Amino acid sequence: NTSTRDAGFAAPTASVLTGPMNRKMPTIYFVLPCYNEAEGLEHTAEVLLAKYHSLVNTGEISKASRILFVDDGSKDATWSIIRKLHESDETVFGGVKLSHNRGHQNALLAGLMTALAQGCDAAISMDADLQDDVNAVDEFIRNFKNGDEVVYGVRSARKKDTWFKRNTAEAFYKVFEWMGAETVPDHADYRLMSREALDALSEYHEVNLFLRGIVPTLGYQTSKVYYERGEREAGESKYPLKKMISFAIQGITSFSTKPLSFVTGAGIISILVAVAMFIYVLVSLGFGHAIAGWGSMMISVWLIGGLIMVSLGIVGEYVGKIYMESKHRPRYRIETTL
Ligand code: UDP
Ligand code: MG
Repeated sequence: NTSTRDAGFAAPTASVLTGPMNRKMPTIYFVLPCYNEAEGLEHTAEVLLAKYHSLVNTGEISKASRILFVDDGSKDATWSIIRKLHESDETVFGGVKLSHNRGHQNALLAGLMTALAQGCDAAISMDADLQDDVNAVDEFIRNFKNGDEVVYGVRSARKKDTWFKRNTAEAFYKVFEWMGAETVPDHADYRLMSREALDALSEYHEVNLFLRGIVPTLGYQTSKVYYERGEREAGESKYPLKKMISFAIQGITSFSTKPLSFVTGAGIISILVAVAMFIYVLVSLGFGHAIAGWGSMMISVWLIGGLIMVSLGIVGEYVGKIYMESKHRPRYRIETTL
């Protein structure tokens, strides 16, 4: 029940504590970050509990498995519901309460690192709104038993998402790949990670966390499981447009420095244009034409000014990241653990 600091900085030695990974009857931790999910949490718990029991009863997973909710500094009754669930069955429900809202990625990491520290064989991360089909879990576990260290849940259909969300997401993944970063298209954070993979993840100390980009770089034997993404069961999306855009920028600038080379390229082009204009001016002077200079002058001033500002903005984006990383702040702080 004591405060725990960001586990990433004090890598737990789970493997030392609990011996080798058990792939026969693994201890699975279901990790669900929750931010203001009070409305639908009880339903989510019910659905997961049924899944949990069916897996335990058929001997697919060990009784030591847990459903772990991470309260990401919610302002509603989320934590009291988690506490109630924990009291209703301590052998199934666990909870981690962050002291402050740190965002989906950090909350998820807090949950995964807790699962690792508790000695899980694998952790499955999913959203608290159950948009991702819980039944895919069976195949996740099957693949884990066959030796995969990471199993990605991939959305085969996004019929239930709005047209806007579908298309912006698709555009984002295209840009992300084009920028030279690795991702699994149509995979969000619904995935299974073995203890081995979690151990590897614990060594990533970046503050600007973008798990979808990090996990593919871990390597290992992986596989994909396709499922249909449904509608949010209750409450509304915690990812409004503004958050989606900042998440996208975060993802790109955390994984690629290509925008910097674009700026350099644009700068070179702009210099070439200036040289061409200079030659044009000289030539037309030679022919004795008067130059109506105002237009071209204003255009170039604005163009160059704009380019400089954009460049500074992009450079600033990276400098800001360096600043954040150099502080080595803990990415979350756990207030209570159940
Ligand atoms: N979430 C969180 N912290 C936040 C925002 C969201 O832990 O600051 C959780 C949220 O409770 C949910 C998951 O992250 O379990 C995904 O969020 P959401 O379903 O709102 O996103 P969407 O599915 O609309 O992209
Ligand atoms: Mg959702």
